[in-house]
Amino acid sequence: MARLGARAKGLVRAGGEVLWPSRSLVSGARDIGQGALSPQEFAALNFIASPVCHTCGQPQEVDLGPLAQCGACLARPPKWDAARSALVYDEASRRIVLDLKRAGRRDGLSVMANWMVQAARPLLEETDLIVPVPLHYRRLASRGFNQSGWLAAGMARQTGLVLRVDILKRAKSTPSQGGMSPKARKRNVAGAFAVRHGKSAALEDRHVLLVDDVLTTGATLEACVRPLRKAGVRAVQVVTLARVVRARDASI
Ligand SMILES: [Zn+2]
Repeated sequence: MARLGARAKGLVRAGGEVLWPSRSLVSGARDIGQGALSPQEFAALNFIASPVCHTCGQPQEVDLGPLAQCGACLARPPKWDAARSALVYDEASRRIVLDLKRAGRRDGLSVMANWMVQAARPLLEETDLIVPVPLHYRRLASRGFNQSGWLAAGMARQTGLVLRVDILKRAKSTPSQGGMSPKARKRNVAGAFAVRHGKSAALEDRHVLLVDDVLTTGATLEACVRPLRKAGVRAVQVVTLARVVRARDASI
């Protein structure tokens, strides 16, 4: 992982101009210089780079080619076509994710979106629409923002791709999935998402890039794929800021 992480960091550094926040995305410390992260914090982040499983984005030890799949995907293919994530969800990235998700911290958004653009680069050529995973309207009203919508908007700004926040809706309010087993997560979000009335025409034969903050078991993202497919989407690809790589990190 360390070797692969170094390669990914090279790509991230070469990723172009981004607006850096004024304090560290990890520690919250101010006056850390020009970057969003101190050199030590940046070094601690585990960026995911090739080789990865083409279908789920899980880092792989051996490069078996660009379309190779991991054992889990061979045994049970996810409902989407391909997925990529920028970071391993671990101690180093947890603060970034939780500050965004729970505290609504926005000043690192362009940096995070840039990381996601780099991670999703192999998928972006085919993308017609960027669609964030929606929140239920009651959750949106109480939280005041949808962090996945922010990340999707950041990616759209940096790529020029079309952002559609009006396509999917969360029709069912579901409890937070923290601590749930993979089976319980799947049950929890089954039927939770739908394509909004009158929006199917915009989806027919299109390649959709679904955006979320963290990929844990994939249950939420898979629950979004079903209505998109029903509406005639040709392919669904997924990008997240971070993903759980080891099962013991599945506590978000
Ligand atoms: Zn896989």
